[in-house]
Amino acid sequence: MNAPAAAPNRAEIESAASDRPTWELYSTCIHCGLCLSACPTYRVLGTEMDSPRGRIHQVLEVDSGRLPIADDFVTHIDRCLDCRACETACPSGVQYGRIVERARAMIEQEYERPWLARCLRDYFFRTVLRDYRLLARWARAVRWYQHSGLQALLRATGLLRLLGLAGLERLAPAMDERFTFEEFGYVFPHEGEQRGRVALLAGCVASVAFSEVNHAAIRVLQKNGVEVFIPEAQGCCGALHAHAGFREEARRLARRNLKVFADDRFQAIITTAAGCGSTMKEYADLLAADPECAEEAKKFTAKVKDVTEYLAALGLRPPPHKIQARVTYQDPCHLAHGQRIHAAPRELLKAMGVELVEMAHSDQCCGSAGSYNITQNELSMRILEEKMDAIDAVKPDVIATANVGCILQLRAGLARRRMHAEVRHIVELLDRCY
Ligand code: SF4
Ligand code: SF4
Repeated sequence: MNAPAAAPNRAEIESAASDRPTWELYSTCIHCGLCLSACPTYRVLGTEMDSPRGRIHQVLEVDSGRLPIADDFVTHIDRCLDCRACETACPSGVQYGRIVERARAMIEQEYERPWLARCLRDYFFRTVLRDYRLLARWARAVRWYQHSGLQALLRATGLLRLLGLAGLERLAPAMDERFTFEEFGYVFPHEGEQRGRVALLAGCVASVAFSEVNHAAIRVLQKNGVEVFIPEAQGCCGALHAHAGFREEARRLARRNLKVFADDRFQAIITTAAGCGSTMKEYADLLAADPECAEEAKKFTAKVKDVTEYLAALGLRPPPHKIQARVTYQDPCHLAHGQRIHAAPRELLKAMGVELVEMAHSDQCCGSAGSYNITQNELSMRILEEKMDAIDAVKPDVIATANVGCILQLRAGLARRRMHAEVRHIVELLDRCY
């Protein structure tokens, strides 16, 4: 029998009250429409209700009681990628990410999704992502499926296509043999003269499916004189939760990470995933109404750095080898729009000696957006098509990016188009150069 849920404490009650979109947030929209062409869902669907301006208007209507939180509202808010391209385009400084994440929190609290969706969302967000041992068990099961011959058999027989699951199945990442979890608690020493000391947030999906990206980041940091520690009791950063409206769950995870990473010996908290970095840089906002954690969250937020941001600011030791390839760079939304980091990844690419060719609209979303490519698969694939057109036009040998979700989506895009190019995280390319 499950234990009865604990009564919410004062911090939880005050924080939940701060989860509603406020007049101060949405009244900054002056309805000019300059964000429309930057919005992937507006470009693909062409409907005002699927534009930033239209969504802000719906949130206002709900907040003033003129529109119910019903299927229509939920559909338009669910379709948003939370890519925040509209924030970059907006001349009025609308903080759209804060509005949509609060709208989703409202939906989570006041709208009843169909039974199966509710169960799956609860299990994924409240159980699997909270417990890394359970996540590891699931990852091992998927790895067994991928390596036992079952995957090849199901693909060859066409059964997945028959069930309408072929597209989704191809989006699942190849699971690693060894997970980054096994290295929690390890310290990786710096090489040469010490230039820094950092803690690494390994990430949830990154730890089981992209541990090589974490390893590459560690090796590159070591080569640049930085000692790297992977704190043992760290958990998921809460980005997927915050984006899906599970803000109380995101706060629980944030509080845990505040404790785990509270060590003045680290100059920075490094992440290789743009989505994680963006959310961790917003812990101060997430925990603003929690009197016990608000100050700690501000200190934490100030130390969070994307690995590309940290390395570019540190200054690379000259890499001994160059990469001779035509490379295009896909800006992850939560790096370009969430953290406003554009130059650092490009500086690192230039230091590797690559021929950098810019695709058109490199900061437009590829359609990955956390779990969006699964929950809104059809729309996500239409958005991906635009991205693949832009990539095809520059014919790169390598597509570089800085977020594991983008890597998966772009690989799926290449496979759909039967195009050939390598998709790599920037630290993987740097790792080759050292
Ligand atoms: S976050 Fe992205 S998808 Fe959502 S409204 Fe803004 S531009 Fe459109
Ligand atoms: S650009 Fe900004 S102010 Fe203009 S409609 Fe879009 S969100 Fe509103």
